[in-house]
Amino acid sequence: MSFNLQKIRSDFPILSREVNGYPLVYLDNAATSQKPKQVIDAIVDYYSNYNANIHRGVHTLSQEATDAYEAARHKIQAHFNAKEACEIIFTAGTTHGINLVANGFSEILKKGDEIIVSAMEHHSNIVPWQMLCEKTGAVLKVIPMNEEGVLVFSEYKKLLSNKTKLVFVNHISNALGTINPIKKIIEKAHQVGAAVLVDGAQSCSHIKPDLQKLDVDFYVTSAHKMCGPTGVGILYMKEAWGNKLAPYQGGGEMIAEVTFEKTTYAGLPHKFEAGTPNICGGIAFGAAIDYLNEIGFEAIEAHENELLKYATEQLLEIEGLKIYGTGPDKTSVVSFNIEGIHPYDIGTIVDKLGIAVRTGHHCAQPIMDFYKIPGTVRASFAFYNTLEEVDALVNAVKKAKMMLS
Ligand SMILES: *Cc1c(COP(=O)(O)O)cnc(C)c1O
Repeated sequence: MSFNLQKIRSDFPILSREVNGYPLVYLDNAATSQKPKQVIDAIVDYYSNYNANIHRGVHTLSQEATDAYEAARHKIQAHFNAKEACEIIFTAGTTHGINLVANGFSEILKKGDEIIVSAMEHHSNIVPWQMLCEKTGAVLKVIPMNEEGVLVFSEYKKLLSNKTKLVFVNHISNALGTINPIKKIIEKAHQVGAAVLVDGAQSCSHIKPDLQKLDVDFYVTSAHKMCGPTGVGILYMKEAWGNKLAPYQGGGEMIAEVTFEKTTYAGLPHKFEAGTPNICGGIAFGAAIDYLNEIGFEAIEAHENELLKYATEQLLEIEGLKIYGTGPDKTSVVSFNIEGIHPYDIGTIVDKLGIAVRTGHHCAQPIMDFYKIPGTVRASFAFYNTLEEVDALVNAVKKAKMMLS
């Protein structure tokens, strides 16, 4: 399939609706993406035709559901280039995956060990580590960022030592759009023997990562950020880590044998998949991956870069408008403010014109504190957005500015 924007847009039923009498312009893709009918159809097909619990039944429906769920795991493995399918653990999403790893490390870390996070993390990538530090006596260190919203690599190198046990960093900042140099970050961490977890929630819709090439230890993401449903995601962990970490939750499906004296755990990935999973979600996640690969990540990136460039140029024409996140490596996220105007007020007015943007701290309060602002207006573009939608945004922001100043 070549990049046919008209055709792509027709795959997304929601894009043809109106909001407040205007055609919907959906620019909140960093919060969640919209879903193509290929994904919606996979959900309807599952519940209409082969809904059953997996792994346990010998009956036909159970086997069909199990096969489809495991096929999705293999699709995800291939997409992210994990070595083994058992290294792909289905989760409820990024937050769940991070907590699962944090829980596993609570038995490994000792007092005085150090964990490094970046200054531009999502709250879901800060709070679990603070909890982990409280529990273990480990110390949290932060890689600072500069005015451009770029991590200061020289400072990162100074933080690393043989006390460093874990490094956590997002691939792309959801609040700024900065693409972090994860390959270099991973290499440096490994030189001191630390493990690395990459939060791919924001990058997976823009970039296809190669987990083996990155040599990352843990990688988490959410299906809903990449055209899949909410409530499902994956945690990738290298097989050796999977065998080492303690399970997160006890229950059905994660055991090898249970007696009242002792329980032995199942192997990967089931050790970390207690209880009935989001079967339909996993299958639909697979459908989303197929859909994105059919369009192709090169084409997606090229179109999104065009949107980013155009939106940046057009928005900067507005007097008093400041963009946060101006580093050289950026994805299609534009976070901005207009001098003297609260971001919330801009968001409210552009919504009246059918445009969905996000306002606030974007679950990244430390970034807002860094810039000493209450929040930003964030427009985040996906491959199904158009240059005309950028124009609609720019005109709406101009109108908001006129009304508010
Ligand atoms: C969305 C997002 C999360 C949280 O994902 P959930 O699906 O809410 O668990 C974490 N990190 C980043 C960078 C995100 O963009």
